[in-house]
Amino acid sequence: MICYFQGCNETGVTKEHIPPRSFFPEDERHQLLTVKACKTHNNDKSTNDLYVLAQICMHSSPSNRAREVFLDRVAPQLSHNNDALRRLLSKGAVQVPGGVLYPVDQARFDEFFTALCCGLVYKSQKAQLPPNYRISHIYHQLLDNGSAEWKQLVAAVDEFYGAKPETVLDFGRPDAQNERIYTVEIYGVPHFGGSITIVHRFFGVFKVTSMLTRLVER
Ligand SMILES: [Zn+2]
Repeated sequence: MICYFQGCNETGVTKEHIPPRSFFPEDERHQLLTVKACKTHNNDKSTNDLYVLAQICMHSSPSNRAREVFLDRVAPQLSHNNDALRRLLSKGAVQVPGGVLYPVDQARFDEFFTALCCGLVYKSQKAQLPPNYRISHIYHQLLDNGSAEWKQLVAAVDEFYGAKPETVLDFGRPDAQNERIYTVEIYGVPHFGGSITIVHRFFGVFKVTSMLTRLVER
């Protein structure tokens, strides 16, 4: 079976969890999906995953679940390898009135969400995303500067992609006392008949819209 990653020709020899196992407390991993990955595209245990999880938790306020996951999954890792993760997160941090502003490394987010999208498509379509799709992401919480332009852009994106989801994959255990950790909706035409939109939500707060645009050959 071929690796899940777009454009990769290697055989999938390992299991990749989508989203990563590291995002979930030990007792909530039973519903995670897996895809076949080659060694290069298996991101399990990568620093990048933890970086993205930490940032998502930090930007999901107020969410008790995000706080809980941060304390359970991220906090114990902060001091490993000479504070590697702590230093990564606080790189470029600036003191502002009322707190500290942590800049976000968008390249790390893009890498993470592109891999996640490849996994979701592979799982729902049972095929690798074809090479003529370009993947880009909008991070609603990270980019929201409160401006009218931003609100307009988000409204336009929501309207454009407001069609009914083709497939809804539901992750995490429904729990009346807590928000779920991750939900996702996939919008698009089956069998790669057109562009695909994937809407991710973490803790019911942190929203990411991934646009998988099908480029038409001339
Ligand atoms: Zn691969």
